[in-house]
Parts: sequence; structure tokens; C-alpha cells
Amino acid sequence: MTLAPSRHPKPQLRVLLCAPRGFCAGVVRAIESVERALEIYGAPVYVRHEIVHNKYVVESLKSKGAVFVEELEEIPDSGVPVVLSAHGVPRAVQEEASRRKLFVLDATCPLVTKVHREAEIHFRRGREIVLIGHAGHPEVVGTMGRLPPGAITLIETAQQAEAFVARDAARLSYVTQTTLSIDDAAQIVECLKRRFPQIVGPHKEDICYATTNRQEAVKKVAPKVDAMIVVGAPNSSNSQRLKEVAERAGCPHAVLLQRAADIDWQALGAIGSLAITAGASAPEVLVEEVLDAFAARYDLHVETESAVTENVFFPLPRVLRPIEAAE
Ligand code: SF4
Repeated sequence: MTLAPSRHPKPQLRVLLCAPRGFCAGVVRAIESVERALEIYGAPVYVRHEIVHNKYVVESLKSKGAVFVEELEEIPDSGVPVVLSAHGVPRAVQEEASRRKLFVLDATCPLVTKVHREAEIHFRRGREIVLIGHAGHPEVVGTMGRLPPGAITLIETAQQAEAFVARDAARLSYVTQTTLSIDDAAQIVECLKRRFPQIVGPHKEDICYATTNRQEAVKKVAPKVDAMIVVGAPNSSNSQRLKEVAERAGCPHAVLLQRAADIDWQALGAIGSLAITAGASAPEVLVEEVLDAFAARYDLHVETESAVTENVFFPLPRVLRPIEAAE
């Protein structure tokens, strides 16, 4: 039986794909660390915490033999590799791993490690440290846990920055989470600098290149479209920030969703233009899935809006590199 062509042509939809979007160099390195460990050592490979905040990625690694745990105590004493997630860990986790002689592969993003080093240097120089970030996020837990309790004070908002009381204003420093809103962080830093002119901070902020570039791309596109879809997980900080940035930049309807099945077509209403981006932990295959869902309902005209070109690459942990590359 052949179906008669529909008498109602699909409505037109202009789609702007934000670039850059999706995977950053730290996420690629973390996922490849697990994949390489599985290739070299075989299953199982333990992974402490979601390697990156994306269910699709986690499920696909699980299907290859990765076993995800929240704490090292869930891992039996053995020579099985244990990969630490991209978000970084408190010092106590590394200490426990070395006491138990676990075979650790550290997939902490080098840009998170850089923040750890900055905090450690401030501490050694006798400075009180303010960490600008979101309470409970694993990166924040990791950074705060690099130093003894009380060494770092977490500040989440400009109001908290206004109310902060320094032990010694002449010996104060700050570091930031890597995945903050650029504008919110700038406001907090501005407040701290105004109140504590001697505060010491990074030469260039700690917000990473990937967070910065994805937010810039969203800012460029958001005012031009009727709606914006951010593909990413609700527990992904940089994905949440992209949705906020889109709203603040004037997009009337911004949504964060994990899969095409999550699209609320009714809430989307009648739109003539749509932008799509993806958080740093969301794979491109999920962007394609969303595009396919729209293509089933609309006649798409797809363009890419590019804010900047990225060419950042982080090598794998040394033991996972191919022999010739490790030398
Ligand atoms: S978002 Fe930034 S800090 Fe986080 S893994 Fe990616 S590059 Fe590293």
C-alpha cells in the first residue's frame, strides 16, 4: 500500500545551531579514559561518580563494563582500575585510594586541577580563600576538600559577597568553579574587589574556555529566536547556566532537556525559529536526535551560528596513552 502525500505541508522552522556546543576537551578526556581503561585492562573498570554529568554517556559506558560508584568504599580491594571523574575529588579520596593501594586513573579535568593548584598556593602563602561556586556541586566539594576545613569559604551570590567578613582583608584571595555564569561570577568578583581591594585572584578567571565559549554562542543567538533548546542534564552546571544565559539574553522560551522524548511540544507552541545548543557533557548524537524530532514535524532550514572556533585538546593520563604517545 502506498500512502498518499499529506495535504498539509509541514510548517517552516529556521534552526540555528550554536557553535561551539557539546563536548569540551575535559569531557572527551574523561570519557576516553574510561574507554581506554576498558580496552587495556578489560571489564570491570570502576568509576567514582558519574564520569561526566550525562545519563546517556554513563549508560553507554556501563554497557561496555564500567561500574559507577559514589564512594571508594563501594569498591573491593583489588587491582581493578578506578577512574576519578572530570569534576575532581577532595584530597581525602586520593589519600584513601593510596592507603588501600587502589589503581587510580585520575580523569580530573586539567582546568579543575589548575584551580586546585591556585587554592593550594594561596593557602601556602597564608591567604584566606573565597571559592565562588555552587554548594554541593562535586567540583566545589572537590576544591574545598583540597584544603583543611575552614581554609575556603564558599560564596554563591553577590549578596553573600556583600555580607562576607574577611579574617584579614590584606590576605584574601579567590578562586572560582569552572562552570559558572560569566556574568554572575563577574558581579561577585566585582563586589569582592570593591570591598577588598587587596584581594588576589587568577590573572584570567577560572571559568573555563568551554563554559565561556558556549555561553558566548548562546548570547549571540538567543535574541534572534523564538525558543532555545539546551541539550544537557539537570545536574550539569554548565548546561543549567546555558539555559539561564539564553533567558537573560532575551529568548522567550528556553528549555533544558536530556533527550528528544522530553520535548514538550505543547509548551513550545507555534514557533518560527529555534536555537539548539548542548552542555559540555552532552554528546552530539543527542543534538541530532532532537533535530530529527523537529524534522519529523517541521520543514527545517538549519544554519550554524559560530561564536568562536575551539581547538583545545588534553592528553589522556600517561598510563592510558598509546606507548609511542606516552614517550
Ligand atoms: S567544562 Fe571546562 S572545566 Fe569542565 S571538564 Fe570541560 S573544559 Fe574542563
